[in-house]
Amino acid sequence: MTSTQVTRADFDEVMVPNYNPQQFIPVRGAGSRVWDQNDNEYIDFAGGIAVNALGHAHPKLVETLKEQADKLWHLSNTCTNEPALRLAQKLTAATFADKVFFANSGGEANEAAFKLARKYGFDNFGPEKNEIIAFHQGFHGRTLFTVSVGGQEKYRIGFEPVPGGISHVPFNDLEALKEAISDRTCAVVMEPIQGEGGVLSPSADFMRGVRELCDQHNALLVLDEVQTGVGRTGKLYAYMHSDVKPDILTTAKALGGGFPIGAMLCTDKVAPSLNFGTHGSTYGGNPLGCAVAEAALDIINTPEVLEQVNTKRALFEAELEKLNAKHGIFKDVRGGGLLIGAELTEEWHGKAAKFLAGARDAGVMILVAGPNVLRFTPSLIIPDADIIEGMARLDKALEVVIKAEQAAA
Ligand code: PLP
Repeated sequence: MTSTQVTRADFDEVMVPNYNPQQFIPVRGAGSRVWDQNDNEYIDFAGGIAVNALGHAHPKLVETLKEQADKLWHLSNTCTNEPALRLAQKLTAATFADKVFFANSGGEANEAAFKLARKYGFDNFGPEKNEIIAFHQGFHGRTLFTVSVGGQEKYRIGFEPVPGGISHVPFNDLEALKEAISDRTCAVVMEPIQGEGGVLSPSADFMRGVRELCDQHNALLVLDEVQTGVGRTGKLYAYMHSDVKPDILTTAKALGGGFPIGAMLCTDKVAPSLNFGTHGSTYGGNPLGCAVAEAALDIINTPEVLEQVNTKRALFEAELEKLNAKHGIFKDVRGGGLLIGAELTEEWHGKAAKFLAGARDAGVMILVAGPNVLRFTPSLIIPDADIIEGMARLDKALEVVIKAEQAAA
C-alpha cells in the first residue's frame, strides 16, 4: 500500500474551513494517551469531546468491531439486525424508555426527538400544538432544526430562515419558563447539564419544576443527554440523579465509545407517533455501530465503572485545586462526574483558548466551553497516574501562558 504524507497545511487546501484544527495530527491512541505524526505524546483529558468514554482502542471495542466487520456491515432498514435489537433491549432495560430509534449522531438523534415531539402534539392535540421551548446557551447540534432549538444565536446567523415555533428562556429560571409555556407547547428541550454553554447545572428544583410544567400543559420533556449520557456523570444517564423522568431522551457521543452512533429513547406513550414511514435513516441502527455500542454499554453500565467516575472526579478536583492554589486562575470548578468545567477568574475571561493551546504544547489535550471555561471530559476509566501526569503538564502550561500574557500586558 502506498502512503502519502499529509500535513495540517493540506487541511486548508482541501477542506471546507468550518473547523480550524490544531497543528498536530494524531495518528494513534491507547487508553488516555495519543501520539501524533512526529510521535509526540499527549494525555487526553478531552476524550473527543466526551466521546471516547473507554479511552482509545479499548481492546473489547476493537475486538467487537473486528468481529462484526467479518460478519455484516449494512443491509438497510428493510431488515433489522441482531446488534440493534440487543442494544435496544439493553437501553430500554436500563432506562425509563420503552422504545428506541437509532441514528448516527447527537444532532440526528435530536432531529428525531424534535420531529417526534411535534408529531405527537399534532396527533394528539392538533396542529396548533407545535411550539418548542428551549434554553439560552443550550446546544443540540448543527442541523437547521437543532441550531434553531439550540440557544446560541451565533450558530443560526446566516442560515435563516430557520424553523419557527421555537422560543428560548434563561436556563435555571422556572418563572421564565412558566411565563413562556402554554397549551401550544409540544415540548421543552433541555440538557441536564449544559455542556457547550459553559458546564452549567440546573438546580434539582428546576428540573422538577420543568417536569411539572410540562405535565400541566401536556408538553413532552426532551432531555438531551448527548454529552451527559452513558456514564459521564457517574450514572448511566444524568436524569438518574433526580426523580425526574423524561418522555424522550437523546444519546450519542459516548454511546459508541468513538464509533458514530446516536439514539433517541422514548416511552410507549409517544413512540406510536413515529409510525411507519414518518422518519428514517440509511445508516441509523447499522450492525457495526450497534455492536460496538452494545460492548461499550456492557462495560460502562457496571458499578465498577460508574462508581469510579466520582472518585476520578475527586482526583481531578483536588489536582485543579492545587493548580489554583499556585496560579489563582479558577473562580469555580463545576459540572458533574467527569464533565468538569473550570471557569477562569474575570482577569482571565476570554482567554480559555490560550490555555488550551498552552496545554497542547505541554502535551495535554483539554477543551473549552466558551471563552471563559476550561472543560475536561476524559475517558471514564482514565488511570489515576494519567490524571496526575496530565495535571503536572497543565501546571507547566499555566505557568507559560500566564507569564506570556503578563509580559504582553
Ligand atoms: N447535543 C449536545 C448536548 C451536544 O453536546 C452535542 C455535541 O456537542 C450535540 C447535541 C450534537 O451532537 P453531534 O455533534 O454528534 O451531532
